Amino acid sequence: RKAAAVASWTGPGTTSDGHRVSVLANVADGASARNASGHPVEGVGLFRTELAFLERTEAPTIAEQATLYREVIDAFADRKVVIRTLDAGSDKPLKFVTQLNEANPALGVRGNRIAIDHPEIRADQLDAIAAAARESGATPWVMAPMIASPSEAAEFAGEVRRRGLVAGVMVEVPAAAILAPAIMAEVDFVSIGTNDLTQYTMAADRMSAELATLTDPWQPAALALIDMVARAGEAAGKPVGVCGEAAADPLLACVLVGMGVSSLSAAPAAAAPVGARLAEVTLDQCRSAAQAVLRTADPAEARAVASAALGG
Ligand code: PEP
Ligand code: MG
Repeated sequence: RKAAAVASWTGPGTTSDGHRVSVLANVADGASARNASGHPVEGVGLFRTELAFLERTEAPTIAEQATLYREVIDAFADRKVVIRTLDAGSDKPLKFVTQLNEANPALGVRGNRIAIDHPEIRADQLDAIAAAARESGATPWVMAPMIASPSEAAEFAGEVRRRGLVAGVMVEVPAAAILAPAIMAEVDFVSIGTNDLTQYTMAADRMSAELATLTDPWQPAALALIDMVARAGEAAGKPVGVCGEAAADPLLACVLVGMGVSSLSAAPAAAAPVGARLAEVTLDQCRSAAQAVLRTADPAEARAVASAALGG
């Protein structure tokens, strides 16, 4: 029954009792966006712009960048597109900006922090996104990675809004989740990056196979932080998405929806399995699963109680 439901799922995302959830795709460039547009997704929830520039030794020009961003926007004409500013550093070093020989790259000058020493790189990128938006007539949402404080969120949002764009931040540092209400006050939306949020919550490298149990997206401590962010979003009336790999797990996706997450973005192939699972459960079941998960002590227990609440 499951395979047939997945194969025939065409969206849009909704629980069996009609609670809407946006099912979105993570993309890396024009080609992956065109591929994603053939899947049953409502838009792009995470465009990882840094991936196009991994081999570059010099910063891309504004015109070059605008062409790339336009390709993704055009692949999803009239659909939502969330563009992330460069998440340079750590597992994705960019030769033209990442410092060499940092002692702790995951805790270093990563993501939005590159604007401390290189404000022009981020300014050029935002100008390029604004140009692509103008040319296409679209209004992409723009978010920054690795935001750790409300003042960083406010500074970024100011730069985005003065270019006429919609401003958000990723919540992937525990500090941002802990101060979610204050972060939320500064932006139009947030998107939770569960890969890094789990890494930083558990103090365990996301790339380490040996530590895979610690970086399990079902770790209750990370889920508690996600719940805090979702509640802050509901209180502020602003959308909270999830764009980490947690959003690709159909069972966990239901739990996230039960916490109040309104969009789920992952690899395009995850859309149908996630959408089909959501269609089988009610919002109340999702809420019960979320409540149950928040009382657990480890990932195995969290999976078990969620599965029970969601009908196996
Ligand atoms: C995340 O950290 O969950 C995320 C979506 O960003 P990335 O995987 O690109 O760091
Ligand atoms: Mg991340």
